[in-house]
Amino acid sequence: MSLETLIQSIIHKSIRRPYAHIVDDKITIHASELTQCNRKLWYKHIVDIDVDADKHNVEVMSLGEYCHRLFIDWCKMSGIWAGDNIKVGDASLRIRGYIDVRVRINDELYPIEIKSVSEKKYKEYCKSECNVPEFIAQLNTYLVLGDYKAGFICLFNRNTAEWRLFYRERDNNLWSYIVDKIKVLHQCIESKTLPKRDNNTSMCKYCEYWNICWKSDKYVESKSVSKESSDSCDRTCENVQF
Ligand code: SF4
Repeated sequence: MSLETLIQSIIHKSIRRPYAHIVDDKITIHASELTQCNRKLWYKHIVDIDVDADKHNVEVMSLGEYCHRLFIDWCKMSGIWAGDNIKVGDASLRIRGYIDVRVRINDELYPIEIKSVSEKKYKEYCKSECNVPEFIAQLNTYLVLGDYKAGFICLFNRNTAEWRLFYRERDNNLWSYIVDKIKVLHQCIESKTLPKRDNNTSMCKYCEYWNICWKSDKYVESKSVSKESSDSCDRTCENVQF
């Protein structure tokens, strides 16, 4: 093995380590997963297939970790208290997450969800005042689980190191929607019933389960789906070999 390959492999293993505990848990939903297609989450949590480890995604996550530390250092240099990575969750809903950073302003704690994005996305998101449903849903989940009134989304431009903060208050209606989604997903996981695809299929081309989702016809129609979940689940996967 060349020295370059060896160093690459050591770095790759080391940056995967902080996420091993998340990847290993097959039942609890992570807050950062919430806005993914329910079917993708179902595959992730129920189907034992060895999808590609996706080196690129892991490296992007690692870059995000670096942004957290950078942001905390900037706060400290400015005399603002900042702490990182606290765990929040709800055992009955089987959801948990890790707040990236918290800052204290006028004796109030605010969680910050840091998103490191490309310059193109940074400009697009800033133009919309960060009206990005998946970012808002994730922050809102932390606000509810950690019992905060408000927080910030921090957009970080990974090309230029520019950043902007967007203030968001807790939204209880949005939380109800998220809770419904979690319940349907858990019901589908427990009954091994395949959730329907989302209406928005724009993320399908990036999905590691695309081959199974769009090409496999090894499912059978479910006879046991409750009325409540029938809008979101459609077929069972009992005895299916992938
Ligand atoms: S291919 Fe698309 S619809 Fe299927 S699981 Fe992936 S994101 Fe969902």
